[in-house]
Amino acid sequence: MTTRYKTKAFIFKKKEINESNRNFSVFTEEFGRMEIFAKAIRKNASKLRNGVDIFNLSEIEFIQGRNRKTLTDAVAIEKFSTIPQDLEKFKIANAVGEVLEDFIKGEEKDREIFNLLRETFSRLNNQNAEKGRRARIYYYFLWNILSLLGYKPEVDKCATCRSNLNPLDIYFSNKSGGVICKKCLNHDNAARKINSDVAKVLRLILKKDWQTISRIKVGPSSQKLLEDISDTAVHFFCPAHC
Ligand SMILES: [Zn+2]
Repeated sequence: MTTRYKTKAFIFKKKEINESNRNFSVFTEEFGRMEIFAKAIRKNASKLRNGVDIFNLSEIEFIQGRNRKTLTDAVAIEKFSTIPQDLEKFKIANAVGEVLEDFIKGEEKDREIFNLLRETFSRLNNQNAEKGRRARIYYYFLWNILSLLGYKPEVDKCATCRSNLNPLDIYFSNKSGGVICKKCLNHDNAARKINSDVAKVLRLILKKDWQTISRIKVGPSSQKLLEDISDTAVHFFCPAHC
């Protein structure tokens, strides 16, 4: 008899296979990342059609075949319906999907990553703030998932010599593992000068203090710095060399 598995899943990528089939990349509560084949889902009469779509959280049921998992049932739990209607939100959701795609390859259950995704998508769905503040939803996700994957940066002391930081003269180094002081700058020629606002945002993100992060003012130059060090971290740690 075929065993049917049931779990909650975030759909972060969809790929059309041919005229009627689709493949979904999902992050599930019970099994971590998986690829699921959805047969005949593009046909109008498909009962699966309404239950799974990109950036939905769905309850899915599947069977494990020799070469692939096939979707047998799906019910959407949360559709996060404002995301596809808003280009900026859609871009952020895509960026989250790309991080999952590049950083998580094998199946491994991770409830904390699952919860982080749930928190990120709900926040994105409900957020009506302006662009700069919305981007913080992505940075919150990014630095917290990097931490869960073992790349948590040091932000309270110099990551190299452990001395206290002078907030007026600080740098960020992925190679050294976080914020470093001027004396330690020679350990990494790719280190980037940052400022105390960026260090503060990173500290709040790693403390998961969303209340404060969503409220504080961050100037455009600090916002740009945050964007730069986040992009650099993705490239530095990406196992797929993305
Ligand atoms: Zn140092």
